Amino acid sequence: MSEETPKATVDMDTLASLCKRRGFIFPSSEIYGGFESTWDYGPLGVELKQNVKRAWWKAMVQERDDIVGLDASILMNPRVWEASGHTTHFTDTLVECQRCHHRFRADELKSAPGGCPECEGPLTEARQFNTMFKTFVGPVEDEASVAYLRPETAQGIFVNFENVLTATRRKLPFGIAQQGKEFRNEITTGNFIFRTREFEAMEMEFFCKPGTDDEWYQYWRQERLNWYLRFGVRKENIRLREYAPEERAHYSSGTTDVEYLYPMGWAELEGIANRTDYDLRRHAEMSGRRLEFFDEETGEHIVPYVVEPAAGVDRCVLIFLLDAYHEEEVRGEKRVILRLHPYLAPIKVAVLPLSRNEQLVPAARRVWDLLRPRFMTQYDDAQSIGRRYRRQDEVGTPLCVTVDFDTLEDQAVTIRERDSMEQVRVPIANLEQALRERLPEV
Ligand code: ATP
Repeated sequence: MSEETPKATVDMDTLASLCKRRGFIFPSSEIYGGFESTWDYGPLGVELKQNVKRAWWKAMVQERDDIVGLDASILMNPRVWEASGHTTHFTDTLVECQRCHHRFRADELKSAPGGCPECEGPLTEARQFNTMFKTFVGPVEDEASVAYLRPETAQGIFVNFENVLTATRRKLPFGIAQQGKEFRNEITTGNFIFRTREFEAMEMEFFCKPGTDDEWYQYWRQERLNWYLRFGVRKENIRLREYAPEERAHYSSGTTDVEYLYPMGWAELEGIANRTDYDLRRHAEMSGRRLEFFDEETGEHIVPYVVEPAAGVDRCVLIFLLDAYHEEEVRGEKRVILRLHPYLAPIKVAVLPLSRNEQLVPAARRVWDLLRPRFMTQYDDAQSIGRRYRRQDEVGTPLCVTVDFDTLEDQAVTIRERDSMEQVRVPIANLEQALRERLPEV
């Protein structure tokens, strides 16, 4: 992480507290005192997370003619991880304080040489620590039944390369995309949902002819940066950082991080790597299968090169929240507002009767019944209308629909926009269309 002064508009504690209070993200197992940086997504969090995943799938699969999807299992034959190099190379360097027994990743201590950052005690020699989670499959806990929780989804794609090729009759270049849980036994975790041991990934392996890989690597760097901008991330908070050759993984001939300016400084959001033909060659060697593409035009058997954009869902959720957070003053009062892109906002439309009047409530519920099948909605009639607008602003709801006494006469309602706070009167008969016009498809 760089030393640069953070410019974030909100600190992590304020965001985490909003997330808990409003039902985005809860500390896991909280009634038992929590559990080591694990988090649960609440009613609004699960909507936001699903929207983030949908936005990625839309851009990476639905809108493209060259990428297909996959959903591979988390537990795989352990030989997969031997072939990929994870059983030997998926390690972090661990040091421990001999006095307070705190453990640290050696690379994170570079900026603090000498003793333990917690108590200044002496540190042990560095040792390699494999960060794959081990488990046992079946009732006997012996070496023969060892399996691993996948630390990346990519290998599920490589081992299905032949299946997808045969089933879809694809030609190079083409990609396979996947979303799903990953597990890494990280030495240190923290910064809210930035680094956890269980998290979700969105990965795509793009198979191309050797010699075209650098072009595709450059293409995917730009394409992925554009995706964040398309969904509203502010330009000044995001950047690409190319790795020096000595920083790259053993299989990579080019790596770039998409970095975000978190409250703790610039750090990784997504990694884009040219993985060469390493993975397919290793799986071909270990499995004895020919993992190649046959080019009918030239009669050549080609082992494709692979370019991989790999993003973390949870880090995306985090940066979309950080980036959207704004505080402003309206008529002498603080207004907290999440300026989330409407496509990502957990609730699209809130339905609010002006008061709990016995005629307004049923009228508002009828409007809610009308909208519920068409939009993700919420109904709220508790407290003053001003407070209810603020509550919706704080969770990023782009539109509120207010039912008032005039509605009973003119069958019209008021639409109130989150960002401009502008209000327009619309007949209920045109409401669906009026809302759609204000919720742009991306
Ligand atoms: P870091 O250097 O931060 O540990 P990494 O280089 O190991 O990350 P990759 O292997 O490139 O990460 O993983 C791709 C993406 O998966 C990361 O950019 C990040 O968004 C996400 N990710 C990786 N590890 C974690 C984690 N422990 N918790 C949450 N997200 C993670």
